[in-house]
Amino acid sequence: MMFCPKCGSLLTPKKEKGTTVLNCKCGYTNKKVEEVKPITEKVSTEDKEIEVITDEETKTLPLTDEECPKCGHNKAYYWTVQTRAADEPETKFLKCEKCGHTWRDYA
Ligand SMILES: [Zn+2]
Ligand SMILES: [Zn+2]
Repeated sequence: MMFCPKCGSLLTPKKEKGTTVLNCKCGYTNKKVEEVKPITEKVSTEDKEIEVITDEETKTLPLTDEECPKCGHNKAYYWTVQTRAADEPETKFLKCEKCGHTWRDYA
């Protein structure tokens, strides 16, 4: 915290063009106070969208006995994707052989 050398009031920081400027209500401005470090936005760890795979890729996938939640067909292609940190299990994706509906297996 910094106080105004003129009137002793608490200075209010304000970001201006990459630097923080301290302003006082009396009109005093203290520039070059600190270099503003670039803020690295933390990337959200929310689940990614379901990976889109092409039909060509689908042909190479193994089939499993899973019931499609959309059409009820009981054969689906499946593959796994490492979506999060390496110490977490892979996510299993399924794609209906019949209607192409894609979903993920949370089991
Ligand atoms: Zn002041
Ligand atoms: Zn289906």
